[in-house]
Amino acid sequence: MVSHLLPTYSRADLAFERGEGPWLIANNGERYLDFGSGVAVNVLGHAHPALVEALTDQAQKVWHVSNLFRIPEAERLAERLCAASFADLVFFCNSGAEAMECAIKTARKYHAASGHPERVDIITYEGAFHGRTLATLAAGGQKKYLEGFGPVAGGFIQVPFADLEATKKAIGPTTAAILIEPIQGEGGVRVVPPQFLRELRKLCDDHGLMLVFDEVQTGIGRTGDLFGYMRSGIAPDIMALAKALGGGFPIGACLTTAEAGKGMTAGTHGSTFGGNPLATRVGNAVLDVVLAPGFLDNTRKVSLLLKQRLAELKDRYPSVIAEIRGEGLLLGICCVVPNGDMVAALRNEKMLAIAAGDNVVRLLPPLIIDEAAVAESISIIDRACAKLSQAAKPATPAAV
Ligand code: PLP
Repeated sequence: MVSHLLPTYSRADLAFERGEGPWLIANNGERYLDFGSGVAVNVLGHAHPALVEALTDQAQKVWHVSNLFRIPEAERLAERLCAASFADLVFFCNSGAEAMECAIKTARKYHAASGHPERVDIITYEGAFHGRTLATLAAGGQKKYLEGFGPVAGGFIQVPFADLEATKKAIGPTTAAILIEPIQGEGGVRVVPPQFLRELRKLCDDHGLMLVFDEVQTGIGRTGDLFGYMRSGIAPDIMALAKALGGGFPIGACLTTAEAGKGMTAGTHGSTFGGNPLATRVGNAVLDVVLAPGFLDNTRKVSLLLKQRLAELKDRYPSVIAEIRGEGLLLGICCVVPNGDMVAALRNEKMLAIAAGDNVVRLLPPLIIDEAAVAESISIIDRACAKLSQAAKPATPAAV
């Protein structure tokens, strides 16, 4: 069949007609265990009753009004995000890249508003991924994504992953901020040591820099805490969120302290759809569930179980799995075999997972999974590893 979609993705020949919790049902009736969650989006799985109720109820009232008027659902969501984090103020948008754009603008504008418009440079880390707009591509610094798209947006300085000395050396009179994902998702589930985040906080305080966390992938419970930064005991000045915040409804957010956001006055930024009643009503429904007492305890409990069972598989299949990494339900299987082979083998066994850098397969199940879903996933991964290890074995010489 000829597709009229711009072919920017290499898609599997698979389409789904509905979902139930952690399951996706293909249009041929086959059931897939969804440990990809639309790349860390479907935090409550598919067709969660609370989200369906919120969306359909709001759809009958008002879908969209412009930001020229007050939007009570957005005010409520902003208030709850601030109450649960370091932040005082929130800007809503529609995606992770846009949340990051706002974070970059906020960090630079802070310095301009403080009388230092020359402070524009943002230090980022190798392996980072911050989105596909021109500025966020420049922030990510990955050649393969930048090639052919003209001049690279200026003002980003990249240093090796979690390298403190290189970070210190990169700081100068034009530095505005340090930008980091507490766990690199696309980069291969590379966990930044909490001590490194604490060192960054200190560097930022000493040099008057903004500390910016990209929590587009780690935010809203994914790591077992509401936000990934929480395990470090320090907080950023600015943070980008998206993905899980809408549980599948597109929404992004840039959170900031009042001080860091002081330059973002009326007219400095905007988004037509950002924070509209539909999106923010669903965002509030996501928070109702994720913030309920005990919810993240379950995430942490199943995470531990999943990690233990994956470690057993690593020991049993050393020719397939090199390492298990990650926090909460942002887990990575670092493969010996090509990670694409692992993703395909899992899909053959009716499980969805997502490739990442560093030859890693990401497991990003919805946070609502229980022990039975963990057991199901382990038997699927076991079968996939058995097949891959068979294939990885050197061919036995033919008998003479
Ligand atoms: N930042 C991080 C850490 C991400 O993982 C992503 C997407 O994968 C983005 C930003 C960009 O988000 P979006 O695709 O919603 O623009």
